[in-house]
Amino acid sequence: MTIKFGPAGLGGIKDASSNLEMYHKLGLKACEIAFTYGVYIKKKEDAVAIGKTAKKLGIKLSIHAPYWINLNSKDKEKIEKSKQRILKCCEIGTYLNASKVVFHPGYYSGIEKEKTYENIKKEILEIQKIRNEKKFTPNLAPETTGKKNVFGSIDEISQLVKDTKCDFCIDFAHVLARYKNYEFEKIKKQFNQYKSWHIHFSGIEYGEKGEKRHILTSEKEFEKIIKFLPKKKKITIINESPNTVKDSVMGLNIYNKKFH
Ligand SMILES: [Zn+2]
Repeated sequence: MTIKFGPAGLGGIKDASSNLEMYHKLGLKACEIAFTYGVYIKKKEDAVAIGKTAKKLGIKLSIHAPYWINLNSKDKEKIEKSKQRILKCCEIGTYLNASKVVFHPGYYSGIEKEKTYENIKKEILEIQKIRNEKKFTPNLAPETTGKKNVFGSIDEISQLVKDTKCDFCIDFAHVLARYKNYEFEKIKKQFNQYKSWHIHFSGIEYGEKGEKRHILTSEKEFEKIIKFLPKKKKITIINESPNTVKDSVMGLNIYNKKFH
C-alpha cells in the first residue's frame, strides 16, 4: 500500500514554491489547492510554474473547488454559475497538472432526494462534456458531505461514480459527522472496485444534523483510518484540520511506523 499524505492548502502564489519545497522536505507527496473562496491562481503561466515545481518535487496536486456550488438550485442562473466555477477549476487544473477537482455538488434545496440526484447527475454529465471538448485534464471528484441536509451521502456519491464515471473524494470526517461512525464496511463495498482513492481526513466536531467544524486530528483516529484503508490501492489523504501540515506529517509518521 502506498499512501500519499498532504495538506489542504498551498498558500498564495508567491509562497507556492517555497511551501512545496517545505512539504517535500517533510516527506509529503500531495497537496490540495484550496480554491474554496475563489480561484485565486488566475494566470496560466503561474499555474504552469507551480505545476512544474510540484512535479519536480514529487507532489501530486488536486484542487478543491469553491464552496459556492449548487448543481441542484431552483435558480437556473445559480446552476450555471456553479458549473462555470467547476470548469474554471478544470481549466486552471489543466495548467497545474492537477489530477482532480473536488467539490460539494449541492443541496437538496427542498427538492426530493431522487430528483436531486437526477439533477446533479445531469449537470455533472454536462460539465464532463465541456471538459472533454475543451481538453481539460482533471477529473471531477464529488465529495461525501458532512451534513444530512446536504447532498453527498456515501450512496449518492458512489452512484454518481457508477452513472457518470466521475472520480470521488471520501471525506471520513464528514462521514463520521453524517453517520456517527466511519461506515468502513459500506465504503469498502461501494468503492472497492476503484484502484485509486482520494481521501479527506481531519478531526471534526458534529451534532445531530452533522458537521459543525473541522478540528485538529487525533492520532488514534488517524490510525483507525489508515488501518482500514485497503491495501494495493493508490491512496491520497488530504488533511483539512486547522493545522493541515502538522497533521499530515503526523499521519505520515503513523503510516511509516506501523503500516509500512
Ligand atoms: Zn473535505
